[in-house]
Amino acid sequence: MKRVLITGAAGFLGSHLCDRFIKEGCHVIGMDNLITGDLKNIEHLFKLEHFEFYHHDVTKFVHVSGKLDCILHFASPASPIDYLKIPIQTLKVGALGTHNLLGLAKDKKARFMIASTSEVYGDPLVHPQTEEYYGNVNTIGPRGVYDEAKRFQESITMAYHRFHDLDTRIVRIFNTYGPRMRLNDGRVIPAFMGQALRGEDLTVFGDGSQTRSFCYVDDQIEGIYRLLMSNYSLPMNIGNPHEITIKDFAEEIIKLTGTDQKIIYKPLPKDDPMQRQPDITKAKEILGWEPRVGRAEGMRKTFEYFKTLSKQELEKTEHRDFTKRNKK
Ligand code: UDP
Repeated sequence: MKRVLITGAAGFLGSHLCDRFIKEGCHVIGMDNLITGDLKNIEHLFKLEHFEFYHHDVTKFVHVSGKLDCILHFASPASPIDYLKIPIQTLKVGALGTHNLLGLAKDKKARFMIASTSEVYGDPLVHPQTEEYYGNVNTIGPRGVYDEAKRFQESITMAYHRFHDLDTRIVRIFNTYGPRMRLNDGRVIPAFMGQALRGEDLTVFGDGSQTRSFCYVDDQIEGIYRLLMSNYSLPMNIGNPHEITIKDFAEEIIKLTGTDQKIIYKPLPKDDPMQRQPDITKAKEILGWEPRVGRAEGMRKTFEYFKTLSKQELEKTEHRDFTKRNKK
């Protein structure tokens, strides 16, 4: 039986990965410090014989006894509101956390995968983004803590691959959505859906002409799984290339949710990328993968999930604000 360590196990993608590897018949060891993760995402796994959970911060030395076949490092804050609130932890989990886990992977001779991101392309000047594009990142901007941690994470992973011959995978994840997204993480989909459910106006940042391309979580997990099982060690984009402006997207959400609220406009956050669309040629050719779930179906399923949240959970939502500490 394969033993797999998944960090960020109580998070959105981490918890779906735990489900997938359990389904594949693996022994799954989930790890999370629960800063942004939530145990309710993996509550259903605790009764299983082949699931273990360690409440641990991977920026501290990581010890797991017994063999490990794969390590998937998915622990990280992953939304702009989180980077503003916990910038140092964001840098540490990408840098120190990755270093600790690479050491563990080397010791266990385990295959190692990191969750990289489309943010390595920054506000991209090449469109759609191919893996060969080096990116356009502001190192000292509000997103810099995430973008640079992820870029360092790619570098150190490639260094272990080249220098120590470690078996590694780098997935560059584009905007992904679905059940278990945190309602208060400030991302556009939970933000709009939460606003529709609370009967508030939908807040579009800037004039809404910026674009994103949203991938349903089941497609994303399938892409990640296939990449891990392949023998491809260079970075690979996994995302849905179907691009939409944020204004048109807000209108879609108004229709889907049936809310009678309107769109209101707020200032565009600093360094908010103007356009984003993955070039997935490599994933198609190498993994035979492409997304299957269209936005209408995926958004319906996601809205069904948000509708199951309690009134208290809905009210807990914070809005993205630039705190005094971060204004400096
Ligand atoms: N956005 C928005 N209203 C919100 C939250 C986000 O218009 O309430 C915009 C945001 O400025 C960005 C896009 O939606 O242009 C996607 O934002 P998100 O935080 O989901 O992800 P990212 O910017 O990291 O792609």
